[in-house]
Amino acid sequence: MSYILSTCPYCKIPKSIAATRTNWMIHLHGHRENIIKDLTDNTSSCVFCAYSEIFANKKHASSHYRWSHKKTDLVRWTLENMKKIVVV
Ligand SMILES: [Zn+2]
Ligand SMILES: [Zn+2]
Repeated sequence: MSYILSTCPYCKIPKSIAATRTNWMIHLHGHRENIIKDLTDNTSSCVFCAYSEIFANKKHASSHYRWSHKKTDLVRWTLENMKKIVVV
């Protein structure tokens, strides 16, 4: 069983968490709104769509991420892009 050691970028008080990938996914699900906000603020086109149009504005971006993609995809993307250490 491998563990992922990282600091959650969305917790109000950042703390190191060592948890399995599954538990990280569950934890990050609770931060869905923050993840959508982060993606909205930092991307000009969708990171999930292969041929994404440029977002017209932030409202367009956030509703695209909210309605066009599964929560699990947002969470997986966050987990993959976090600075982390995998402990085996
Ligand atoms: Zn957190
Ligand atoms: Zn998309």
